[in-house]
Amino acid sequence: NCKNADDVLKAVKEYDVSFIQFWFVDVLGVLKSFQVTPSELEGAFEEGMGFDGSSIEGFCRIQESDMVAFPDPTTFQLVAWRPTEKPVARMFCDIKNPDGTPYEGDSRYALKRMTEKAAEKGYAFYVGPELEFFLFPNERETTLLDRGGYFDAPPLDLGNDVRRDIIFALNKMGIVVEYSHHEVAPSQHEIDLRYQEAVKMADTAVTYRVIVKETARKHGCYATFMPKPLFGQNGSGMHVHQSLFKNGKNVFFDPKGEYNLSEECRHYIAGLLKHAPEITAICNQWVNSYKRLVPGYEAPVYVAWARRNRSSLIRVPMYKPGKEAATRIELRSPDPACNPYLAFAVMLAAGLKGIEEKYELPAPVEEDIFEMNEAERAKYGIESLPGSLNEAIEAMEKSEVVKEALGEHIFNKFIENKKMEWDAYRTQVTEYEIKKYLPLL
Ligand code: GLN
Ligand code: MG
Ligand code: MG
Ligand code: MG
Repeated sequence: NCKNADDVLKAVKEYDVSFIQFWFVDVLGVLKSFQVTPSELEGAFEEGMGFDGSSIEGFCRIQESDMVAFPDPTTFQLVAWRPTEKPVARMFCDIKNPDGTPYEGDSRYALKRMTEKAAEKGYAFYVGPELEFFLFPNERETTLLDRGGYFDAPPLDLGNDVRRDIIFALNKMGIVVEYSHHEVAPSQHEIDLRYQEAVKMADTAVTYRVIVKETARKHGCYATFMPKPLFGQNGSGMHVHQSLFKNGKNVFFDPKGEYNLSEECRHYIAGLLKHAPEITAICNQWVNSYKRLVPGYEAPVYVAWARRNRSSLIRVPMYKPGKEAATRIELRSPDPACNPYLAFAVMLAAGLKGIEEKYELPAPVEEDIFEMNEAERAKYGIESLPGSLNEAIEAMEKSEVVKEALGEHIFNKFIENKKMEWDAYRTQVTEYEIKKYLPLL
């Protein structure tokens, strides 16, 4: 575990590292990487490594494309999927302008700025995501590899071997795993990570996705974080457990509060609920994401909170009631194909807004919301999440909270990109339409 540039330089010598990958993500959370040799490293820590930002999605225009990547020494790790002899290492980077100011298009910077804003109020933001994924034979077909279901124990099949090796690889890179199990859908798995501070966790989520994919590849299959690959089956979610700490104490916990929740926690939940439609485009950024957010598949559709109800958007887990450190809330809408930096940033922004403005928390809804009709939902004041990427973009476009959280650059680039995606999708003629209309009309 390196603390500074000197530690990294020492480690590179000690382990005889051959290349160091410099990692960052584009505005959609897609990993970008370039490699440097050990001889370049010292200079890179001092002056950064220049690169052309104009071909990176959501970065900048040709005329102003010189960017500089500064490696963050605390993220130095040997990558687990490369040979142990002459190993390869990686570090996450902060992206800066040539004049040394932070680059506004850098997602990691947006999250850092947001967590620093929280820190000014004394809050440290902790998150624990549950990233679900499917295993398929390759990237062109969704043939099932198993017929397992939720928590099914082995018949020892390929999926179990892949999962086991993923956990070994995660551990090797310093990532602590809490649970892993077969998920509800066939060929679907989940590995849950020990909660961490948000910037670290966003780095970890990016690493997790690479490790899952690389490990699957080694086993001759393909792992996908596509939110809804199979019609008629559960999709893949990324539930995010969240808490705020102040001076080492969990501020969501109050032994005297209802359900052991503090006033601050209640305002935080209220903030997430109120701004939920606005942050959905970030948490569910693909056309396909909205195929998951439909009734009947344990994914949320309506804006409500509950202690137990798994159809609600926010749940308050009660595994260890009364235990301070375990007190948290779970946002169930995000999917694992999001940009985790931006997703954590907008969640925190919405929650903090709730605390700042002391939003009133509506009553929990423990009944099954999917069983209610529209009138009943209206009676409880239960709104819906956006039903499509298009609706989500419209809600985001009006959002001051999201604009402020992401900064104008990312906010605009993201919307621009997503409008293009929606337009490309909107004009497609799908299998469904051919099957339905060709015989009919
Ligand atoms: N796969 C479900 C979703 O889309 C979650 C299922 C679960 O974790 N119980 O969110
Ligand atoms: Mg889970
Ligand atoms: Mg799950
Ligand atoms: Mg969960």
